[in-house]
Amino acid sequence: MSLLREAERCIANQYVQNLNSFITPLPRTGSWKARVQEADQRADQGPLTWIDGRLISVKDNICTRDLPTTCGSGILDKFNSPFNATVVEQLEAAGAIIAGKTNLDEFGMGSHSVYSRFGPVKNVRNGAEGDLSAGGSSGGSAVAVAADQCYAALGTDTGGSVRLPAAYTGTVGFKPSYGLISRWGVVAYANSLDTVGILGLKTSTVRDVFTLLNHYDPHDPTSISRSSRARLSQVTSPSPLQCRPLRIGVPLEYNISELEPSVRKAWLLSLAHLQKQGHAIHPVSLPATKHALSAYYVLAPAEASSNLAKYDGVRYGTRGDHADSDKSLDAPLYSQTRGSGFGAEVKRRILLGTFSLSADAMDNYFIQAQRVRRLVQQDFNSVFGAGHPLAHENEKSSERPASGVDVLVCPTAPSPPPLLSDLTGLSANRSPLDAYVNDVFTVPASLAGLPAISVPVAVTNTGGKKSGLAGIQVVGQYGYDELVMQVGELLE
Ligand code: GLN
Repeated sequence: MSLLREAERCIANQYVQNLNSFITPLPRTGSWKARVQEADQRADQGPLTWIDGRLISVKDNICTRDLPTTCGSGILDKFNSPFNATVVEQLEAAGAIIAGKTNLDEFGMGSHSVYSRFGPVKNVRNGAEGDLSAGGSSGGSAVAVAADQCYAALGTDTGGSVRLPAAYTGTVGFKPSYGLISRWGVVAYANSLDTVGILGLKTSTVRDVFTLLNHYDPHDPTSISRSSRARLSQVTSPSPLQCRPLRIGVPLEYNISELEPSVRKAWLLSLAHLQKQGHAIHPVSLPATKHALSAYYVLAPAEASSNLAKYDGVRYGTRGDHADSDKSLDAPLYSQTRGSGFGAEVKRRILLGTFSLSADAMDNYFIQAQRVRRLVQQDFNSVFGAGHPLAHENEKSSERPASGVDVLVCPTAPSPPPLLSDLTGLSANRSPLDAYVNDVFTVPASLAGLPAISVPVAVTNTGGKKSGLAGIQVVGQYGYDELVMQVGELLE
């Protein structure tokens, strides 16, 4: 099929489907058309690379020179970045067309894409009783992929924001090892956890995009250096999957009582499927997991409170309407701007983070949470057969078991997507804390910086008829991104 027809179909879908997946869609006609036509002409002269002329959506917290970058926030609703994020440069240099900027929870803070100044994202999948949550915070990117509004999409994953929307929309969502994809030009939420993630309909698409973006970037101080990358590829290849049956770990602590039966069924089906292919299943224990969620919700808001301090109406941000009325004081400018610019959830996180970093609370919250983070990392290291490839030598040998597992397989979320009406509007009956619980299975890999993928697994009833869909997550040791994708592919 011609690239132009594919692009026109995607752009038309952006306008007619009414899912609110884009904050800035591409104009129906524009320069993108000529660029796709050029790719079509190149295709007549010889084979194209897979990405040439393809539409890739970008989450609206990733800076683009040609389109606004709002972060789903009132405080940046008129912000235009003077530069492209490195990932955008990489996509465009390879011939991709940015398919528009996708909707998200404000600054990436949320699990259902309902905390956006631009309104909630609707899932393409419909429940019997109404619209479902698209998951968050990269809900717009996931829906854009699921609804055929683009070929693939970029999101960001700090504590699960690519994997959870993938699970809720029936798409594939991949969070790479921390530091592999550049964060330059990606608006920071919690720097020590933030990663750029990829969404696609198939793992193979996600792999193609990852391969394109997986390079050292001198602009990003946390980008893994060329020499460390060389070490990673030496240690991780050939893939264990090419050499022997895999040892698949099943974390016992993830079998919580709150797990919905359909999700547990998808988990069991996935394990049975892997076993049938000759791989061995091993129960493992990750005891610090039960504290991971609380640690995450101390650490992420702490980093966020510091990152968001710059939106004061002076250096960045839309100035509040009455901010200039009392020129003798600085405070009205700041409080007016921040009071009207930020939404309720972001304010909650700023307060939480500022409190946990304050002198009196620091030891009890921030420092304790960092200790838990270390324990979570040690838990993972103690179950994987491969040591952390970038860890110090003594650390590796003291923590590694003789017969560890290659990957862990577990659900992405404890339940299927909730109804949007339960989360927003007058009938909403949930506290903000209920949304945090959805991240219970995704935050551990984020705290440890590990690669993780969520793939859709169909649940069938006794007659063999498809009765549902759940996201199943594969987590690997640091740097084993390819293995994680390969196991994801086995489950697709
Ligand atoms: N739901 C989590 C949060 O609100 C994760 C968000 C993310 O990964 N960006 O912090």
